[in-house]
Amino acid sequence: MISQKMYELGTKKSTIRTIFEFGRKRAAEVGEENVFDFSLGNPNVPTPEYVKEAALDILTHWEPSAIHGYTVAPGAPQVRQAIAESINKRFGTHYAGKNIFMTAGAAAAITISFKALCQEGDEFVTFAPFFPEYRCFVESVGGKLVVVPARTADWQIDFDAFAKLVTNHTKAIIVNSPNNPSGAVYSEATIKQLADILRAKEKEFGHPIFLISDEPYREIAYEGFTVPYIPKYYDNTLVCYSYSKSFSLPGERIGYIVVPDELESYEKIFGAIAGAARVLTHVNAPSLWQYVVARCADKPSDISTYVTNGQLLYNGLKEAGFECVQPQGAFYLFPKCLEPDDYAFCERAKKYGLLLVPGTDFGCPGYFRAAYCIKTDTIKRSLPLFKQLAAEYK
Ligand code: PLP
Repeated sequence: MISQKMYELGTKKSTIRTIFEFGRKRAAEVGEENVFDFSLGNPNVPTPEYVKEAALDILTHWEPSAIHGYTVAPGAPQVRQAIAESINKRFGTHYAGKNIFMTAGAAAAITISFKALCQEGDEFVTFAPFFPEYRCFVESVGGKLVVVPARTADWQIDFDAFAKLVTNHTKAIIVNSPNNPSGAVYSEATIKQLADILRAKEKEFGHPIFLISDEPYREIAYEGFTVPYIPKYYDNTLVCYSYSKSFSLPGERIGYIVVPDELESYEKIFGAIAGAARVLTHVNAPSLWQYVVARCADKPSDISTYVTNGQLLYNGLKEAGFECVQPQGAFYLFPKCLEPDDYAFCERAKKYGLLLVPGTDFGCPGYFRAAYCIKTDTIKRSLPLFKQLAAEYK
């Protein structure tokens, strides 16, 4: 009668949502101040003033039909041009408006890219730990997700494992740096090595292997860590960008795909992206927000809260005895649990009001994710509780 697969996807709550809802219930029982919710990646830095001002100015001064009307499917031409120019200034690229396809955030950008590329039997390779939605996005277009085991020492890439998993069936590689959930930024050396291996594999198999760079956290990289612009290292790259985190606009659904000329058959891929967006009923990215982000494209993001929070939590966890890689970007830490069973560990943490997400959800058992896009004071007050939790294991 109905699609069992869709029913399961729609009714099985994600672990993150379940923890978040538990937190809301618990807050009603014991008070908001006694719940330390590290579960959700919802930015807590306020949307910048210049974004609000741009939205208000457009809403006040433009013709309503110009603001709220449909745009052409890839986005308003002046928006695409403004974004292309902004990227060119930053990265020395040579994009024009035709290289930008506006989307409803990164989720739409990656799903459209998967759909545009996927043929029967295709595999999409990603690296643990990974954003759990990749699996359902890839499977929704008929592809298979292949996961490279994590390199836990520094969350860079285990290239030996990777090289074995790239086969004749590999259509694309998905990378996400700065990473959710590890907080790592792939170094230039990592990107160069990845590009070299892919070029060799393309030669070996005689077909292109695409790199899909999922970059919602691009702007959130800390001092000493630079996020390489991947199309400069590897031609067959699609960049999926979002303003959800950089401008704290996750609910407005705005982002884009960069479709470079350097891709093997740009025209065909751009056409397939337009077709994929069409069948996914992505009529156009939200019009108002296209105009707003185009105006703000060159503006910086304020990441100071994340810098403070990341350092505070990292130092506190280290002091409590946790093994953890230093925060490099995004707003997550991914420490090792104090027992092998990450579900049992996160369950135990709940006793202290600490709401953490088991690493298994990200393809990396034995670890937990702590999202630190929360109030700095909440983090400060949580540190003695992490110590008490750790003491249980001594
Ligand atoms: N990719 C990663 C790695 C994410 O963490 C998220 C959201 O948290 C997304 C994609 C989706 O972002 P958007 O809100 O732009 O759809």
